[in-house]
Amino acid sequence: MQAKNSYAGIDNFRIPAAILVVAIHTSPFAVFSDSADFFLTRVLARIAVPFFFLITGQFVLSDYLTGTWEPFVKIGKYLKKMGILYGISILLYLPIGIYAGHYKNLSIYSLFKMIVFDGTFYHLWYFPACMIGILLLCLLKRFLSIRGMYAAAGLLYLAGLFGDSYYGLAEKIPAAALVYEAGFSIWSYTRNGLFMAPVFFLCGVYAGRCRTYFGSVTVRKKRFIACVCFAVSFLLMTAEAFTLRCFKMQRHDSMYALLIPSVLFFYQMLLLWPCRKKKDFWMQRTVSLGIYIIHPAMIVVLRLAAKVSGLSVMAENSLVQFVLTAVLSYAVSYVIAVVLRRIRKKKEQDKQKLKKCRTWVEIDSKALGNNVTFIQNILPENCKLMPAVKANAYGHGDVETASCLRRMGVDAFCVACASEGVRLRRAGIGGEILVLGYTHPMQFGLLRRYCLSQTVVDADYAKQLKRYGKKLHVHIGIDTGMHRLGERWENTEEILQIFRIKNLIVDGIYTHLSADEEKGEANRQFTMQQAIHFANVLDELKEHGVRQPKVHMQASYGVFNYPALAGDFARVGIALYGVLSTGNDTEEWREKLKPVLSLKTRVASVREIYAGETAGYGFSFRAERTMKIAALSIGYADGFPRALSNGKGAVLIRGSAAPVVGMVCMDQALVDVTEITDVRAGDVAVVIGISREKEISVCDLAERCGTITNDILSRIGERAQRVVV
Ligand SMILES: *Cc1c(COP(=O)(O)O)cnc(C)c1O
Repeated sequence: MQAKNSYAGIDNFRIPAAILVVAIHTSPFAVFSDSADFFLTRVLARIAVPFFFLITGQFVLSDYLTGTWEPFVKIGKYLKKMGILYGISILLYLPIGIYAGHYKNLSIYSLFKMIVFDGTFYHLWYFPACMIGILLLCLLKRFLSIRGMYAAAGLLYLAGLFGDSYYGLAEKIPAAALVYEAGFSIWSYTRNGLFMAPVFFLCGVYAGRCRTYFGSVTVRKKRFIACVCFAVSFLLMTAEAFTLRCFKMQRHDSMYALLIPSVLFFYQMLLLWPCRKKKDFWMQRTVSLGIYIIHPAMIVVLRLAAKVSGLSVMAENSLVQFVLTAVLSYAVSYVIAVVLRRIRKKKEQDKQKLKKCRTWVEIDSKALGNNVTFIQNILPENCKLMPAVKANAYGHGDVETASCLRRMGVDAFCVACASEGVRLRRAGIGGEILVLGYTHPMQFGLLRRYCLSQTVVDADYAKQLKRYGKKLHVHIGIDTGMHRLGERWENTEEILQIFRIKNLIVDGIYTHLSADEEKGEANRQFTMQQAIHFANVLDELKEHGVRQPKVHMQASYGVFNYPALAGDFARVGIALYGVLSTGNDTEEWREKLKPVLSLKTRVASVREIYAGETAGYGFSFRAERTMKIAALSIGYADGFPRALSNGKGAVLIRGSAAPVVGMVCMDQALVDVTEITDVRAGDVAVVIGISREKEISVCDLAERCGTITNDILSRIGERAQRVVV
């Protein structure tokens, strides 16, 4: 599933795209012929900037506009980043602009025009265009459906077209000419955030959603079709451009009618490009952005160098100038990127170190990836993972875990309650989020605002949802024997009634298996009975002509013990974290599942106590001889079970077991380190995980406490920091 979500094709084209922009500003082919230059800089290279718009559309806007990701987090971050980059660029080009006389006779009005639409230096229009385009689309979303937005953006582009390369036509109509003239007093070109950016942002949204819009053929065929479609539309666009040029229609030449299909198919082609391993494309992203920002400065530098050195060919021969500018811009951007990466890495490391000061959880993202792939491979092709990230992702850290899973291509989650969903959304987690438990009617607003899907816990609850009146996404719970939540499977009429509630968008219907852990005959029969009851409900739906929504019933044990019961989703929790509920069950899958979590803490203080002295609360521990004990910075409030008191449990320090001494306190615990040499304050103690050759698994811990792993994991406290390694 990882391979499906790598965007190597896109990332690999970033730098070539930036080089194309350099070409626009250096006209390399001008030395050969005007037409060759026109083709390269006014036709081919015109793909570059829209290509960048599409990327933004797909990765920044998509979730927001298509409603699976309501809050503004990602967009806010993006706007901030663009604002900062624009600010830096403005400062960078201020001296050059002043020298070139760009800012003479500046009024407030022309300053506005420059900053908001034209860019303070000629290529910098891109930054305000991105910001305005995005804000405009967010505004339109309030009033229009996604289709309406496509239409609106299309119309804006059309309007832009007649102010750009079709201006010759608009000019002929006096009224239109008047309107455009007025427009040109506010912006110098229609190539800006109002007319050009929105449609390409939406193309990005569309392309990201519809990788497969050529129907159900093989990837190779799709790629072929995309290539052909691109070739045809690009050829036509070339014809369009040359025709417009021939008739001298163009006021400016950034926008063509056929630029939209050309870029869209080109982007599709890149999306479908075969790519081997996942790589880190941060350098490509940063270097391409760097080239875009600094290349005009490099042109100036080269001109100066030409003047100083007397090598006029550097400035006069456009091909030489292009090559030198491209190489220089690349080199400088590369160096900047390397420095930035180092700073970032250092910052990241410091942040991680800071989290490891007291008690912390380490999440092994490789192990998580291994488990995701393994479980996904057991499931049939059309059954998707809907990881259970409730209870702070079983103690692993909900945001950290969900972010990792998102990167692995997971796009549906389930949580226990609305507030857990809200937490994820606020941290910018996209995809579908299903609330498995009860949500109080007072909180229905949250469900809407954060695009959470709610479980209909029974028919009565459905009435409350109906009373709320506003549109909500729901999955209907069916009780097939657990008797916890869900409408009873026999109540066909009630269930059908839920489908008829106008304000409910029924995305799914599910049941929960209550006896799937044990493999005995009684359990098997009971589980099959549950499955039959559930199938009964689905049959009833079909009989009554109700469109069947997504179906799911398996949790972890269901996936392993009842693979035949796979639906559209599998709500996998504990197995994803690399263990099962008991040590025995975990042993069975030991080769396949890798434990994700380690729990560690620091030694706070080491001291000797003498024979006859007690340690900790009460007198439950009394030393029989002189011994060395260490206080750990973890207690039952951090999830270190009190049941481990008095030698029931141990931790690992320097690869040796240190048994618990006395009662575990709320924030601290004492352990015996008499046999371990050189234990000092600040040392790491492993509560769950590996220390040198020794390991304490969560299964050991659960067994010692007489409970299941889920219980131990989900109780790891809020105070523990979560670190992804
Ligand atoms: C917690 C939960 C799950 C996940 O269960 P695991 O056994 O951890 O895989 C699935 N479905 C429902 C309804 C749950 O409450």
